[in-house]
Amino acid sequence: MSKVRVRFAPSPTGFLHIGSLRTVLFNYLIAKKEKGKLILRIEDTDQKREVAGAVANLIEILDWLGLKFDEGPDIGGKFGPYIQSQRLEIYKKYAAELLKKGGAYYCFCSPERLEKMRSDQQKDGEPPHYDRACRDLPEKEVEKRLEAGEKAILRQKMPLAGVIKVKDELRGEIEFKAADLEDQVLIKSDGMPTYQFASVVDDHLMEISHVLRGEEWIPSLPKNILLYKAFGWTPPKFIHLPLTLNKEGGKLSKRQGDVAVEDYRAKGYLPEALLNFSVLLGWSPYTKDISGESQKEILSLEEMIKKFEIKDMRTSGGVFDLTKLDYFNGYYIRQKPLDELAELCLSYLEEAIKKARKQESTPLRQGFEGQAKTQYIKKVIALEQERLKKLSDIAEATEFFFADELKYEPRLLIWKKLSAKEVKKNLEEVYEQLEKIPEKNWTNDSIEDGLISYIKAKEVKVGDYLWPMRVALTGRQASPSPFDVAEVLGKEESLKRIKFAISSL
Ligand code: GLU
Repeated sequence: MSKVRVRFAPSPTGFLHIGSLRTVLFNYLIAKKEKGKLILRIEDTDQKREVAGAVANLIEILDWLGLKFDEGPDIGGKFGPYIQSQRLEIYKKYAAELLKKGGAYYCFCSPERLEKMRSDQQKDGEPPHYDRACRDLPEKEVEKRLEAGEKAILRQKMPLAGVIKVKDELRGEIEFKAADLEDQVLIKSDGMPTYQFASVVDDHLMEISHVLRGEEWIPSLPKNILLYKAFGWTPPKFIHLPLTLNKEGGKLSKRQGDVAVEDYRAKGYLPEALLNFSVLLGWSPYTKDISGESQKEILSLEEMIKKFEIKDMRTSGGVFDLTKLDYFNGYYIRQKPLDELAELCLSYLEEAIKKARKQESTPLRQGFEGQAKTQYIKKVIALEQERLKKLSDIAEATEFFFADELKYEPRLLIWKKLSAKEVKKNLEEVYEQLEKIPEKNWTNDSIEDGLISYIKAKEVKVGDYLWPMRVALTGRQASPSPFDVAEVLGKEESLKRIKFAISSL
């Protein structure tokens, strides 16, 4: 059996960061590729950041993405509990063990003292660091102060000199000077472990084989390794993913747009697109492929698993390019069977319809309840499927199909240099031609054939007729072809709209 065990260890902030999506996806790919296990662990020991319902939300969004876990708070497993705040007894036990092994010490410094120490260091131009005042307190004194109930924290005993060599699977060996490592806090005064302590204890106890996390954690790596050493444990392999950058090369931030996967979901981005987009932000599956496949970027989750190799992961930062995400989303929308797409679009349409109803400026077309409504909506969506970049676009793009009366400037009906009178006459001819088409032949093809042969026979310009027709049917200058729109609207509604346009000129 594979010994590969990887974990996704988010803090429950209330949403899944778009950068974390990549972390969880790569963890998933390693687990699948190596036939290992994927574990979800909630790192919630920083109580200040706790958000109600955050764990349930997280599980829900991961499920929506289609990333299945083997162990976690909702499914259990033999290495649980999988929520750190439920593991406090475990951390207590291991803190005591570490003290015994000499890898940590109690620190009684008050927050005020630490604050003053830091500001003095700053004044002297030194980087802020703990001055190790409590590191060598006599054992007896420590015992006494603890007995007296003095508040204490636990700090890691770092080596005072030398070089710490650590290895990242992608970056190779990295060296850190011991002098640069602070005696960091492992257990806080409220008894809670820090990330540094809890993640090492848990990764060890949960038998994690590969820690895959963001590159912002590289400075923690030597401290982690020293902690493993102090315990006498074998560390897992470490892989640090490059940051996802914005187009200017900076950090992704809320100010520049959405950073939560939930926001993308709400806008109508599909999980397939988000995954495909994310995976390419740190992996080039085809760089070594000279068989002509190198340009192919569309990857399903199954294909990713098949092609994934840790060694092909990149260490340079990926750029978050929304245009590219739209490209993938458009692609996956086009691949959807119509029934499924209609299902996915429904809530957006309902929302738009509700809005239209509230405004009353666009009264709704009548008679679209039940079956007729579903059929109509499907036809509308089929017309837009090619163009949609995200599901929420459907509302704006198709509003005119649902309005009882279109609101547009009659000026819009006028094509190039034609006069209002000429346009009116052309629309009257269009009306006459369309009226002749029997209801049962009302398809885009027969509408097109009928009109085009009429226009050709008259030797006039196509645009002189089709432009006003399009505007009459849609109230817009850009839309699907007027023949397609007419077919979906139906004969009666199409003629009604053309008549309305004629009367407005
Ligand atoms: N709780 C950490 C975070 O949310 C996890 C980092 C790690 O994967 O070790 O960033």
